[in-house]
Amino acid sequence: MDFVFDNSFHDEMEGFYAPAEAAKPSAPKLLAFNHPLAARLGLDTEGVDPEELAQLFSGQALPAGANPLALAYAGHQFGHFSPQLGDGRALLLGEMIAPDGMRFDVQLKGSGPTAFSRNGDGKAAIGPVLREFLVSEAMAAMGVPTTRSLAAVSTGDRVQREHAHPGAVLTRIASSHIRVGTFQFFAAHFGAEHVAQLSDYTIKRHFPDLADTANRHLSLLDQVIGLQCQLAAHWLGVGFVHGVMNTDNVAVSGETIDYGPCAFMDRFAVETVFSSIDANGRYAYGRQPQIMHWNMARFAEALLPAIHAVDPADVDRAKAMVDNVTERFRAVWFDRMRAKLGLVQADDADVELIDSLFAELERHAVDFTSFFRALAQLLRGDGTMLEAILPKADSMAPWIADWWAQLKREAIAPLQRADAMDRVNPLYIPRNHKVEEALASAEAGDMVPWYDLLEVVRNPYVTRAEWADYAQPGSADAMPYTTFCGT
Ligand code: AMP
Ligand code: MG
Repeated sequence: MDFVFDNSFHDEMEGFYAPAEAAKPSAPKLLAFNHPLAARLGLDTEGVDPEELAQLFSGQALPAGANPLALAYAGHQFGHFSPQLGDGRALLLGEMIAPDGMRFDVQLKGSGPTAFSRNGDGKAAIGPVLREFLVSEAMAAMGVPTTRSLAAVSTGDRVQREHAHPGAVLTRIASSHIRVGTFQFFAAHFGAEHVAQLSDYTIKRHFPDLADTANRHLSLLDQVIGLQCQLAAHWLGVGFVHGVMNTDNVAVSGETIDYGPCAFMDRFAVETVFSSIDANGRYAYGRQPQIMHWNMARFAEALLPAIHAVDPADVDRAKAMVDNVTERFRAVWFDRMRAKLGLVQADDADVELIDSLFAELERHAVDFTSFFRALAQLLRGDGTMLEAILPKADSMAPWIADWWAQLKREAIAPLQRADAMDRVNPLYIPRNHKVEEALASAEAGDMVPWYDLLEVVRNPYVTRAEWADYAQPGSADAMPYTTFCGT
């Protein structure tokens, strides 16, 4: 199989990474391969022997033209600055240019220690690898910007966590792996020139239109804030809790990155936390916009030396930009919520309608995903789905009446509106109990439930009778769902 690498980070950014070498797995075996994604990248994998894929995407065989390296970065973890993180369990094989001209990183995750591993083993266990594959595919299918998963390969080796688990390697595809923490690393250790060099590289790669603006580093801040507002609104809109929004886990491309303890909420609760290590709820569902704002303030700080070097007066502009994040987020969020509720035109009364919805959903512990599909069913004249998810048939009657009144402002046929809602409100998400079932089976050697679930979450919008079970939330009496880091 032929790769054509074009390794710009390796060639242009010496000093920003350390060369790396993948550990050789003892018995690599292909667990999953994303053929549609391979085609999108221009990789011809039709008819390629799964054994060859397993070798290429586990570190066993190095593809020609690869320059494996580990990226340096820093980051605020749970609010505290770690000056030295970096790819401790991942290495960048190289960059590929897809047939449409888009550039992508090809990264192995779980391929052994690097210069940045500190005390870690650089490995990944099968569960977190398959969880990332599944959830990132679900996100992509729902239109949420995300890194992608090209391959999952079991290594044949054991990885020691709380227990020993089968080891695995994930091949992650990203439009880049430049993080807020990458900027922080060079701001903390080197200063304005390195920050400007990284900013210029980022602009060339992701935002070439910014190169000629008055202060390109200030423009970069503006762009990244815009993308992060969009991303946070996407997450909230599908009930996603990232779980570890440290600045090293924020990609400047605006893609969701680092699927660790993430999970989707069933019954709505704004304080929902799944991660076992997030005891204070710093990264709870409803705090994600605030944390995004905080992370953008850290990004601005890291960029300041470069912004200042172009024009000292722009430091105040950067501050104003950060101050404006909440307002910017709210605008994006209301647009997204309007679409979820079938509203087309903005109206002052939407704000109250949308804000009050969340109090209602929480009060009645309504399944977040089902709710928006149930509203569309209501427009089709069928109230059974809504009744089934509410404690009492009329639990939300006053809110429904307000929503109805807002719909009436617009002359749109109810069926047309219902169909538009179903195109933005997923019916099938990776439900926690289904994910756990699938991962437990996979770890025991049976991949079938995982393949089945992958097929379901890749098709989130169109109702299929045979998938009814996948649309159901887990039992209300089940123990609170807990996730663990440690991909
Ligand atoms: P995370 O919170 O999962 O994004 O990881 C934070 C940092 O810890 C990153 O620099 C990772 O590369 C590093 N890390 C996490 N797990 C391991 C591991 N098993 N071996 C080496 N480094 C790790
Ligand atoms: Mg990370």
